[in-house]
Amino acid sequence: MKLPICELCASSGTLCSGCSAKLADGRLTELDVKISALLYKMKDKYNLNDADFTKAIDLGRVVLVLTKGDVGKLIGREGKVVAEISQEVGKKVRIAEMSGDVRKTISDIIMPAKLLGINEVFSMAGTSYKVRLPSSELSHLPIDLNSLEKALYSLLDSKVSIVFE
Ligand SMILES: [Zn+2]
Repeated sequence: MKLPICELCASSGTLCSGCSAKLADGRLTELDVKISALLYKMKDKYNLNDADFTKAIDLGRVVLVLTKGDVGKLIGREGKVVAEISQEVGKKVRIAEMSGDVRKTISDIIMPAKLLGINEVFSMAGTSYKVRLPSSELSHLPIDLNSLEKALYSLLDSKVSIVFE
């Protein structure tokens, strides 16, 4: 089972120094920890040993759960796994595949706002992303700008700035 926190942390419910550091700098969120612990607890009951949970993103009314593996695993037979996640976080949950295609993943997240384009910016500090949206789309974002930038940062492990054109 692949989780954003280590197996020891998922089983014990307390975070080791490595996972705590990730939580502190925003690469990991409380929501990721909560869902990881839940999936770990459910792994035998729902046969989740080869499931992959990459990251959860809180989009306000909906929580987006991203997987690099099989989407069906996290939905579960008759939707039982996704139903338990939904109950745990107290919100609707949507499972989506996180492909290598950053553009597609970001499009999924900012829905129903439309994406104009993404630029990768290389600098001494590392790679960052400039996510470009038409200014008419500002009101269509699922969450506020600041939260969205944070969510994208934790997702891409790189600084993200959202610009309206
Ligand atoms: Zn850990």
